[in-house]
Amino acid sequence: MIEKLVIANRGEIALRIQRACRELGIKTVAVHSEADRDLKHVRLADESVCIGPAPSVDSYLQIPSIISAAEVTDAVAIHPGYGFLSENADFAERVEKSGFIFVGPKPETIRMMGDKITAIEAMKEAGVPCVPGSDGPLTGDKERTIRLAREIGYPVIIKAAGGGGGRGMRVVHSEAALLNAIALTRAEAGAAFGNETVYMEKFLENPRHVEFQVLSDSHGNAIHLCERDCSMQRRHQKVVEEAPAPGITEQQRREIGERCAEACRRIGYRGAGTFEFLYENGEFYFIEMNTRVQVEHPVTEMITGIDIVKEQLRIADGQPLAYTQDQVQIRGHAVECRINAEDPNTFMPSPGDITHLHVPGGPGIRVDTHIYHGYRVPPHYDSMIGKLIAHGEDRRSAIARMSTALSEMIVDGIKTNIPLQQEIMRDSAFIAGGANIHYLEKKLGL
Ligand code: ADP
Repeated sequence: MIEKLVIANRGEIALRIQRACRELGIKTVAVHSEADRDLKHVRLADESVCIGPAPSVDSYLQIPSIISAAEVTDAVAIHPGYGFLSENADFAERVEKSGFIFVGPKPETIRMMGDKITAIEAMKEAGVPCVPGSDGPLTGDKERTIRLAREIGYPVIIKAAGGGGGRGMRVVHSEAALLNAIALTRAEAGAAFGNETVYMEKFLENPRHVEFQVLSDSHGNAIHLCERDCSMQRRHQKVVEEAPAPGITEQQRREIGERCAEACRRIGYRGAGTFEFLYENGEFYFIEMNTRVQVEHPVTEMITGIDIVKEQLRIADGQPLAYTQDQVQIRGHAVECRINAEDPNTFMPSPGDITHLHVPGGPGIRVDTHIYHGYRVPPHYDSMIGKLIAHGEDRRSAIARMSTALSEMIVDGIKTNIPLQQEIMRDSAFIAGGANIHYLEKKLGL
């Protein structure tokens, strides 16, 4: 097994990775910014290296500093977590060229999935259902583009091939607005992503966000770990996630899950990954693949009993998958609430000292967080301070356990979104299941 690993991240995911390493007997090196000396995983790590000042561009995004930290500590592998450098193909390449194991897919796979057009092409070849669209980049041929949009049917969405983070897209409702919208999206994409390539898709008006978790090893084996529903979103940020997705039939799960696994085998995918789909009127439409562990991975772990981070590490070590598809069985239902240090009404970040902390417990409750009594939430990073996960024999009991857990949780000194999460757990549409991606914003009056 890998002997020593650099955790190139911070917060709850860094601690999550460290816990998996401990179980597998892997020593950990925490790399951290000057503002993060007091992070829980830094204190618990076998070794730690300060890699720069607080701003992420000077620390967590500094590729040379992270690689030097691996060199000076004699580590053999680097786990990127999520966010930061996790989907940066150049980083993965530099890690491998420097002789370290990158816990994730091959750099060329990350690059292929980072370009949405090549990603969609690869998915189509594997039979993964995609959104009807231009089947490649839009050309300068105006007549052809206008014809294409008519065939697809309005509304359509113009998307940047290199886009990400919900940026670089524009919805078009009529032919009169089409060419201008394409020109604008091209210009924006060029400025933001250094790539003017755009493509067209049918715009789905009221979809849900349903995604499939996969694991794929370097020996040609791939399995799926069922799906999650992440439709409760605000500004394209997930707020609540659950698994399995309400209303998905066993047959659909098997069919779409197997297509995703097949796509992994075809492209030689390595590691954990997520296929994101929009789901509307009973149909799945692939939109993109995330080539890393996701924030919401615990809901899948709770219903399958499979430790996704440990599997990532085993796969990176070159071992074959520890499970076959038949061994993946769904047990019950799991819900995750993201806990953010923010005002529940204005959503303004609320960093500061945690003067009192009480963490919930009881049957089926899991708390993934790095915060502790006396910890200071720094203002420099994402406002998520942890995740509450509730598992139950069915969806109703998972929600009931989550409500109890939220009512027990006390975080004093800073504001959190716990009141908002309590409101969502009481919301009749959430309780019914299957609300679409616009529901939460409409409820909040946004
Ligand atoms: P990004 O990489 O920027 O996150 P995605 O392709 O994942 O881009 O799309 C982000 C979000 O934009 C989706 O979750 C969905 O809300 C919306 N979206 C993207 N494509 C479509 C589409 N064809 N129809 C409707 N909504 C879409």
